Amino acid sequence: MSIPLLDLKAQYLTIKNEIDQAIQNVLDSSIFIMGPEMKTLEKEIAAYCGTKDAVAVANGTDALILTLKAFGIGPGDEVITTPFTFFASAETIAQVGATPVFVDIDPVTLNMDLTLLEKKITPQTKAIIAVHIFGQMLDVEKIMEIAARHNIKVIEDAAQAIGAEYRGKKAGSIAHASTFSFFPTKNLGAYGDGGMIVTNDEDLATQLRMLRFHGCKIKYYHDEIGYNSRLDEMQAAILRVKLRYLDRWNEGRRERAKVYDQLLADASVQLPGRDPLALPIYHLYVLRSEERNILMERLKAGGVASAVYYPVPLHLQKAFHTLGYKVGDFPVAEQACEQALAIPCYPELSLDQQRQIVALIKH
Ligand SMILES: *Cc1c(COP(=O)(O)O)cnc(C)c1O
Repeated sequence: MSIPLLDLKAQYLTIKNEIDQAIQNVLDSSIFIMGPEMKTLEKEIAAYCGTKDAVAVANGTDALILTLKAFGIGPGDEVITTPFTFFASAETIAQVGATPVFVDIDPVTLNMDLTLLEKKITPQTKAIIAVHIFGQMLDVEKIMEIAARHNIKVIEDAAQAIGAEYRGKKAGSIAHASTFSFFPTKNLGAYGDGGMIVTNDEDLATQLRMLRFHGCKIKYYHDEIGYNSRLDEMQAAILRVKLRYLDRWNEGRRERAKVYDQLLADASVQLPGRDPLALPIYHLYVLRSEERNILMERLKAGGVASAVYYPVPLHLQKAFHTLGYKVGDFPVAEQACEQALAIPCYPELSLDQQRQIVALIKH
């Protein structure tokens, strides 16, 4: 029996009746765009995160682009982020015409190293995108303090961290604005694309609602150049069902992470590094090994899927060659790219399966 990295079919089967009903309800209403499901989901996500408002958009990438746009960020501006993340965290900075500036990561948590952050702030710096990598938050309050001294904006890219906490505060609740992705494999995943921005700034939310809908407040009256970036009713209805299970599922991931921690304590791999102030949601359970590729092959031969997050740090991506970075600029991120390996970690994974995976890792 092979073990996938994530089992979305197994998850669906546990909530099939509710999902099928939710989809049927949308079909019966035949309201497909900007309807009651989306509006209710916005309220529910805002309540879940403890923010004043939430604005649904088409995906997590658009959530970042619209937020950067709403903050007036563009050509000539710099935005600081981590080189160890999914491409969109920095692609979106370039997409609005600004320049991504990278800060190396902490070797334990693999999140941005905050001791290196302030040195990278220049008069051109307009924002910091703080990424909660693999579902473990970094200290956004500390970033807010640093940002306040320089009068710059902070955005949490919480695509991998919905439900995670830091000092008891939810991911997305601390920065000026925060973004989520509902890509199917995220902890709260749609059955298609989806995204959300949460914020306590009501003017910003109004601005974002205009941007996602062609710069309109009133239909066919366009106050500015915007986008078409909406979350459809089908996805919103599915997400509303899944949101009710999110805490349980995140807890299920934490339980499985704990099992791995115990069973792998004496294995010759490095376990995921923890910040004691963070409550992670294990979007991914990521081991590190100097023999990563051999380990991956061994798992594959034993029928276990694993995946490299991420094979190339962003500063060395071809698309960013014009930024002029070279090998050795961010050594911690580069090493993480050589060593990191995600193994299956989700609530539907059984203890037997975990034992089978551990046996392969231990060889
Ligand atoms: C998934 C992800 C995104 C992009 O989300 P999409 O919905 O796929 O556009 C952005 N940042 C991070 C860190 C992600 O993991």
